[in-house]
Amino acid sequence: MKKGIVYLVGAGPGDPELLTLKGRRCLASADIVVGDYLADRHLLALASPDAEYIYVGKKAGNHAMKQEEISRLLVHLAGEGKTVVRLKGGDPLVFGRGAEEAALLAENSIPFEIVPGITSAIAAAAYAGIPVTSRGVSASFAVITGHEDPAKKNSAIHWDALAHAVDTLVILMGVSRLPYITGELIRYGKSPDTPAALVRWGTKPEQKVLVTTLGKAADDCAEAGMKPPAVLIVGPVVNLRNTLQWFDNRPLFGKTILVTRARTQASRLSSALSALGASCLEIPAISIQDPCDHFQELDRALSHLEHYGWILFTSVNGVSRFFSRLALSGRDSRCLCHSRIGAIGSATAEALKKQGISADCVPSVFRAESFLESLKPHIQAGTEILIPRAEKARDVLPEGLRALGAHVHIAAAYRTETAADETARLRSILTSGNADLITFTSSSTVENVMKMISGHTDILQSVPIACIGPITADTCRRFGLTPAVTAETYTIAGLCDAIQKWSENQ
Ligand code: SAH
Repeated sequence: MKKGIVYLVGAGPGDPELLTLKGRRCLASADIVVGDYLADRHLLALASPDAEYIYVGKKAGNHAMKQEEISRLLVHLAGEGKTVVRLKGGDPLVFGRGAEEAALLAENSIPFEIVPGITSAIAAAAYAGIPVTSRGVSASFAVITGHEDPAKKNSAIHWDALAHAVDTLVILMGVSRLPYITGELIRYGKSPDTPAALVRWGTKPEQKVLVTTLGKAADDCAEAGMKPPAVLIVGPVVNLRNTLQWFDNRPLFGKTILVTRARTQASRLSSALSALGASCLEIPAISIQDPCDHFQELDRALSHLEHYGWILFTSVNGVSRFFSRLALSGRDSRCLCHSRIGAIGSATAEALKKQGISADCVPSVFRAESFLESLKPHIQAGTEILIPRAEKARDVLPEGLRALGAHVHIAAAYRTETAADETARLRSILTSGNADLITFTSSSTVENVMKMISGHTDILQSVPIACIGPITADTCRRFGLTPAVTAETYTIAGLCDAIQKWSENQ
C-alpha cells in the first residue's frame, strides 16, 4: 500500500495569491484536503478535481468538528495511505493548533511535513499599510492571543511586560474581548492615546480597517459593529498607514463587478479589474463550441492556405481554433508564409504573436468598420481573403471587402452558445444586490445573458451596465437597457479606464 503523509499547509491570510509555492505543490498532490473556515476556498482549485474535500470549519464558538477529532481524522486518512493536505488559515503554527495535530501524527508514526504560511498577524497589517516594525518607530513586535479566558486565575499572557517591553502588539482572536485586553494594557501603564487599528478580513476584497486608539478601540469597534476575524494592532506604527495605505484605497476597492465573458476569456478582464481593487464575480455567458459543420470549411481552407493573399482574424478564439486545427493536421505557422495577416484588435494580435506571427495590419480602433478602412489600401480586385471566425458574426467586414472586389472566404472556426449551467448563479447574483456593475464585452454576451434571464430585463435594471464599445451598447439598448459606461477605446484597458472614471463619480 502507498504510504500516507500529512502536509500541514499554511494557506496564508486570505488573498489566495499569498500561498507558498510549496503549499501549491502539496495541494496539487493531495488525495484529500482537510480545510477550515479561514482557508480560502479559491485554493481548492489548485487541488486535483478528483481530490476529496473535508470541511472541518472552525469559526469562533462554532466548531464543526472538535480539535481531537480533526487530529484523529488526519491519522486515520494518512493511515489509509492517502496524501492529506491539512490546510489552515495563515501559518499552521501561529494559533493554528498545528502543533497538536503534528504531535498526534508523530505519536502514531505518520510521516508529516509542515509548510509555513503567511500569518494574518503581519499580512493583515501590511495590507492595511501598517508595518509591524519600522526603523525609528518600532524595533519589536509580539503576536498575542486575545482568546484567553479572562476568568483564568493565572494568565499565561504577561500584559504587564507587554505593555512596556514591545513596540508593536498584534492581537489575534481579540474582537470579543477588546474591553478586557485594552483595559489590561492601560492598567499596566500603556497610554490610552497609543494608536491602534483593527483590520477585519485583511488581504481580502472585503477588508475593513478601523483606526482608533487603545483607549477608544473597544467602543469604536462596538459602534462600527466590527466582527471577527480581525487583528488588533497597537503601537505608533499605526500612524504610518497615513502614508503607506495602498490596498484599500485603490480606485475600484469595495466594488463587486460581474464579468460576463466566454469561459476562456473571463480571466483577462477580471485580472485587470482586480488589479484596480475590484472584487470580480465571473459568469461565463458564452461557451465556445465546435462549429456545426465540424470544421469542414476551415479544414478545406487550411488545406490550401497558399491560395490566400490575406488571412483576417477577428477574435482571440478564432486564432486559437485556427491554430489548433492546423496543428491537428500536423502542420504549423510556417504554412502562413504566403499570406499577409490582419488582426482586428490588440488582443487578437497578441494571440497571433504567441503563434509566432506578427500581424501586418492591426487597426487602432477595435471595430470591423475600422479594420475595413485599414485594409483598404492593401486590397485589390481579385484578392483572395480568408476569414476564420465565429459561425454567427456581423457581415460588415466581408461585405465591405467584397465591395472592393475581393474574393472573401468565410470559414467557421467556432460557435458561441449560451452557458446554460450558469443561469441560476447569474440570477441569484443579480437579484441579491451584491453586484455594483455588470460588464459586457460583446453583443453576444448581452444576447446570451438575456437568454439566461429569459428576457427579464427588470432584474438587470438595478445593476449599472458597462459596455466595451458602442456596438455592444446598442445591443443593450435594443433590449431596453441603458448602459452607464461605454468605453471610448474598445479594449479591456479602455473598458477598465471607463469603469474607473464612472466609479470616481459615484
Ligand atoms: N493561523 C492563523 C491564525 C489563526 S487564529 C494565522 O497565522 O493567521 C484566528 C485569528 O486570526 C482570527 O480570529 C483573527 O484574529 C486572525 N485572522 C486570520 N485571518 C485573518 C484575516 N484575513 N484578517 C484579519 N484577521 C485574521
